[in-house]
Amino acid sequence: MAESTMQKIVSLAKRRGFIFQSSEIYGGLKACYDYGPLGVELKRNIKDAWWRDTVHRREDVVGLDCSIIMHPDVWKASGHLAGFSDPLVDCRNCKERFRADKAPRAEPASKTLYREGGKKDGKKLEGVVGPQGYVCPVCGSGDLSPERQFNLMFRTSLGPVDPMQEILDAVDDIHALDAKARREKLWSIIEQTAVYLRPETAQGMFVNFLNVLNSARMKPPFGIAQCGKSYRNEITTSNLTFRTCEFEQMELEFFVEPGTDEKWYEYWRKTRLDWYTSLGMNPGRLRLRDHDQSELAHYAKACVDIEYFFPFENPQGGGEWGELEGIANRTDYDLKRHAEFTGKELSYFETETKNRYVPYVIEPAAGADRATLAFLCDAYDEEAVDAEKNDVRTVLRFHPRIAPVKVAVFPLVKKDGMPEKAKEVTRELLAEGINSFYDESGAIGRRYRRMDEVGTPWCVTIDTDTLSSGTVTVRERDSMEQSRIPMGGIAQYFRNRLK
Ligand SMILES: [Zn+2]
Repeated sequence: MAESTMQKIVSLAKRRGFIFQSSEIYGGLKACYDYGPLGVELKRNIKDAWWRDTVHRREDVVGLDCSIIMHPDVWKASGHLAGFSDPLVDCRNCKERFRADKAPRAEPASKTLYREGGKKDGKKLEGVVGPQGYVCPVCGSGDLSPERQFNLMFRTSLGPVDPMQEILDAVDDIHALDAKARREKLWSIIEQTAVYLRPETAQGMFVNFLNVLNSARMKPPFGIAQCGKSYRNEITTSNLTFRTCEFEQMELEFFVEPGTDEKWYEYWRKTRLDWYTSLGMNPGRLRLRDHDQSELAHYAKACVDIEYFFPFENPQGGGEWGELEGIANRTDYDLKRHAEFTGKELSYFETETKNRYVPYVIEPAAGADRATLAFLCDAYDEEAVDAEKNDVRTVLRFHPRIAPVKVAVFPLVKKDGMPEKAKEVTRELLAEGINSFYDESGAIGRRYRRMDEVGTPWCVTIDTDTLSSGTVTVRERDSMEQSRIPMGGIAQYFRNRLK
């Protein structure tokens, strides 16, 4: 069977050092990934572009970098500790564990057809959809376990006391208790030192609202931005880095006066969608999908997802829409909750109008790993260079701003002083902060193709003419056209092209 586009991208990502499976030599760890030498550059460039466009290029946004472990009461106020859990169900037929809220709907008491054990050649069976109104997403069976809650936050303990010892000390006492009381007793021990890895970066901005207001002397409308890791103990993980338990977010909380929130919500929808296309993403593979009333979080007034059409394999074939970023109007919910839990006045006082209010929040929350995966998929292309010779080149058409390597430098041959000149050019570019790569091995055509495959926008070749005329050849990745430019001022030449 021919390889799918997604399989090709996964294999290129590994072969060329974009994405590796975590702890691979130990057999890997489910849904954990490492970024290789090129992947880390790609992701950094995306995060840097976000920071530059969201923070540095604006007067109304400042940044923050909060700790991953926060006071456990933050998660009580935010609702994560109580409500941040998925209803989980096990399929008794194929043993799949899945989220009830994501399962395919079916009319209760209607017939459902599936195969024994979920196997393709399994015996054909006929079942009945239960009162829950959904079936197994893998095999279609309606023979399912009851729903159980499962907290998505990673719990750990903070402090010098090992809760294991206290639990051991308590074991004798708890034997006499019934199941519920036993659980409560154990929880009362664990809770004393329990802390959580943050499931989102957003709460860091809310709890620092007053600190930022006072120290940076901001006034609404203004935003606080943060880029950092978050953790969710997801049940279903899939498609390379699309859904992982550890992920990096690029979040902005934009505080506005109530009544102006709808205007700002519209503004950020457009601004954030435009950001992806400004970095070269194909607008035909992007869409805005508004949440309907049933999808909205109880505190949100409106929410929209920016989705990208990923080349993921699915039974229907032809890819799948996946969320890159959510933009929500969170109203004054978060600030009010933290005010309630802390007793602090989390509001803004406008001196001119003597008006005090709790700002509304517009939140564009993007995933750095998802954006990286989307840009990688979007850049992937196979181009027939010469159909008769069956010559196809693989090229990643990254926007120069996010390309991991900007310039590759080659000596045409490994003699006549060409390698020395080429190394000199490489050093000059690196000293200018332009990520460059020197390569002297193999035929020149092969070297071009290797750089195409990792998305390097320009290749510079030092040849016999360089030595006599002081010029070099610049070859364009996308058009494959070549031109000659003077070797002097080469760093400035690429600086200008990167602007
Ligand atoms: Zn099943």
